[in-house]
Amino acid sequence: MTAPEVKFTQLFINNEYVNSVSGKTFPTINPTNGEKICDVQEGDKADVDKAVVVAREVMKVGSPWRRMDASKRGKLIYKLADLIERDTEYLARLETLDNGKPLSASRVGDVPAIIRVLRYYAGWCDKITGKTIPVDGDVFCYTRREPVGVCGAIIPWNFPLGMLGWKIAPALCCGNAIIVKPAEQTPLTAIYIGSLVKEAGFPPGVVNIIPGYGPTAGAAISEHMDIDKVAFTGSTEVGKLIQQAAGKSNLKRVTLELGGKSPLIVLADSDVDVAVNWAHEALFFNMGQVCTAGSRTFVQEEMYDEFVKKATELAKNRKVGDPFDDSSQSGPQVDKEQFEKILEMIESGKKEGAKLECGGGRKGDKGYFIQPTVFSGVTDEMRIAREEIFGPVQQIIKFKDMDEVVDRANRTLYGLAAAVFTNDVNKAIMVSNRLQAGTVWVNQYHALDVASPFGGYKMSGTGRELGEESIHEYSEIKTVLVKIPEKTC
Ligand code: NAP
Ligand code: MG
Repeated sequence: MTAPEVKFTQLFINNEYVNSVSGKTFPTINPTNGEKICDVQEGDKADVDKAVVVAREVMKVGSPWRRMDASKRGKLIYKLADLIERDTEYLARLETLDNGKPLSASRVGDVPAIIRVLRYYAGWCDKITGKTIPVDGDVFCYTRREPVGVCGAIIPWNFPLGMLGWKIAPALCCGNAIIVKPAEQTPLTAIYIGSLVKEAGFPPGVVNIIPGYGPTAGAAISEHMDIDKVAFTGSTEVGKLIQQAAGKSNLKRVTLELGGKSPLIVLADSDVDVAVNWAHEALFFNMGQVCTAGSRTFVQEEMYDEFVKKATELAKNRKVGDPFDDSSQSGPQVDKEQFEKILEMIESGKKEGAKLECGGGRKGDKGYFIQPTVFSGVTDEMRIAREEIFGPVQQIIKFKDMDEVVDRANRTLYGLAAAVFTNDVNKAIMVSNRLQAGTVWVNQYHALDVASPFGGYKMSGTGRELGEESIHEYSEIKTVLVKIPEKTC
């Protein structure tokens, strides 16, 4: 058995699976063969409105969810994590079917990622505190952190379970209600999680899941007058639309985690094999469909030729194939649109004069597989060095000295992540301090932990996810000033 049975395909509102108001459906496609997996109910504005009504009810002062002890909220979130853990194998297979990522990655990466983030925030529930503040006058001043209210979450397709977790875990931890729109390409795991939310015992209306399209269901969330916050991960282009929609409606809070063109800098004093291996994973992990992908590999000239040779060898040997086959390191790209966009970017690299070292086209004649591709001789003005490719295409760029490379690395509209490889700790710190990026890795790549904040500088986003920072994003501070007869001490 490879592909799992799809158990749920409807919207999840008020702890029930329901059809969409319009009755419309949309197909979700298996990227391994381009065939339809099943039809899913298509949510739209009317369904978002329905979910908002129940979510607002949940957020009323005095409701069971508002009155629930923080420790009990934590227990519910722990329970949800346990149920996901129980169903790891099923969820991993469902994710691989819908998204195309290798089953081994779904098992050890994606499913554990949502479990870990839920447990992290479950532990936070009864540790969210305010302050007492020594204000002037006969006044006792304290602050409380209260839920923001009804939150919207718009999820991308590259890490459907992980990104769902990054949003629902802190939202629930802070006592909010949430309405989630999964990506149209990968709705199945989020829909299934609805059944686990109910089984865990969350009150109806706390978590609602509305599969559908961005310009309809997604826009209905970001424009809604009765949604208090929206959290989005995806393209910079759509991030702008969401911020505008929030500005034109109720000025809801917005957190955005957007695109990148992250530099990975290899100084000549570093260990070439270590750098080549990390640079390979930085780019080819998840078929290059990672917002933090190390997609500008800057290598110092003394090491350049050796690096290109070894990087090309690694890319040629990467095993691309059936994601249900345990030996596959890469599966297909998520859909036809992404597949075609990547092939077009590869053509632009060839036309603009980059040297194609390996790959450069589709793999096989079925599904959306692309050969691991390496370009050398890439210059800063080429499109492949400026635009996000979101595919398995590595750009290797030469540089002379450290000052020059930092300037060039920062010459981008993005600022999500960066890395430096060196055996000199002084250089590592100097370069890290000067890079304009929300995360900087030294002698490694893609290391993330739920306890540390993640987000972007510049057009890579606003706000931070994970860590204590997410508690701030999902709570309001209330200041209470109590008149007291007189200061006693
Ligand atoms: P996208 O459109 O930004 O998709 C992300 C999410 O936003 C999806 O749920 C999408 O719905 C929704 N959306 C689309 N238009 C919307 C709107 N007007 N209002 C509210 N929500 C909306 O990304 P994409 O088109 O799938 O991919 C395009 C590029 O985005 C990729 O090539 C990559 O460069 C970047 N991307 C970045 C990340 C990341 O992790 N930062 C993730 C995915 C993609 P639909 O499912 O209907 O599109
Ligand atoms: Mg799909």
